[in-house]
Amino acid sequence: PNSKSGDGKPRLLLMGQRRSGKSSISSVVFHKLAPSETLYLETTTHIKKESMHSFMDFQVWDFPGHLDYFDPIIDTENIFQEIGALIWVIDAQDEYLDAIQRLNTTILNLHHTYPTINVEVFVHKVDGLSDDYKSDTFRDISQRVQDELADHGYDNAPVSFYSTSIYDHSIFEAFSKVIQKLIPQLPALENLLNNLCQTCRVEKAYLFDIMSKIYIATDTSPTDIASYEVCSDYIDTVIDISEIYGWDRPAEDGSAELLETGNDDAESLVVFERKGSHYLYLREINKYLALVCIMNDEGPGEKKALLDYDVRRFQEGLKEMFPRTDRDVPPTEGAASG
Ligand code: GDP
Repeated sequence: PNSKSGDGKPRLLLMGQRRSGKSSISSVVFHKLAPSETLYLETTTHIKKESMHSFMDFQVWDFPGHLDYFDPIIDTENIFQEIGALIWVIDAQDEYLDAIQRLNTTILNLHHTYPTINVEVFVHKVDGLSDDYKSDTFRDISQRVQDELADHGYDNAPVSFYSTSIYDHSIFEAFSKVIQKLIPQLPALENLLNNLCQTCRVEKAYLFDIMSKIYIATDTSPTDIASYEVCSDYIDTVIDISEIYGWDRPAEDGSAELLETGNDDAESLVVFERKGSHYLYLREINKYLALVCIMNDEGPGEKKALLDYDVRRFQEGLKEMFPRTDRDVPPTEGAASG
């Protein structure tokens, strides 16, 4: 409805200098590449547009670092008009002054014409830094960006910063926060999750995008990375099983049809399992989303039934919020829309 783009897809742009880690990030998050395998990736030398067959149809445009986005040859309007967030990757292990300079030039260029774009800075590759150095670098980068923008008369620029690494969950967590800003239904979703937590004494509930393991919402109790890790690892341990009798998922190249294998409720995966001192509950909500809940040790018995019931209600609520996820068919590559 309020989308300017032809296909209505919220779009993410991934930018930054050469070797900053852009290809690695998109491969690890969206194609499940093992982080160590990124050593053998070719650096980005062209604009890559990828369509994600996910709950949200966002795109990652991987730009080569040397490209001058504001060169008149480049169709800036085409690039920027439809995006929701610009993710700027800065290699924290390298000299970053040039990167900051380019970032600021870009922000200043963008802010008049496209004031609604969220600028998200990933202070990346922090795995190689000691804790002290890591927080100093983070502070230094964010301070420099804000100060320089202020010097140019742009105070309180809407720029957010995240420390990220592909070697831990921080990259997924950062993406989750970036994506959540692009979901207009977020407060309503959080409400649904809060209700679920309250009625079923769930400690923490995450709604995951199964393919990427980005969480698109969680209840509003404090989040800690450890519980996110537990839940996201749990998806990994059950996802192969779920493919046997769960929803059909698109193939890596996105070519597979997304028709459901049958009756949705009967075939969606539900798992309830004890893990250490907690119970984990996973339920596929639709072909893109899974709900994962952490519960403390209280014995599953009656709770499971209550939970199943409430999760069904949650599922209904979600259907109303996102009517299209239910009958969504991926766009055929190259098909005209709108
Ligand atoms: P691009 O040119 O921006 O696409 O950069 P690449 O994705 O090709 O990454 C350049 C190098 O950085 C590769 O050798 C990656 O393995 C490495 N790299 C990417 N992300 C990380 C990270 O989080 N930590 C570390 N230590 N290395 C990373």
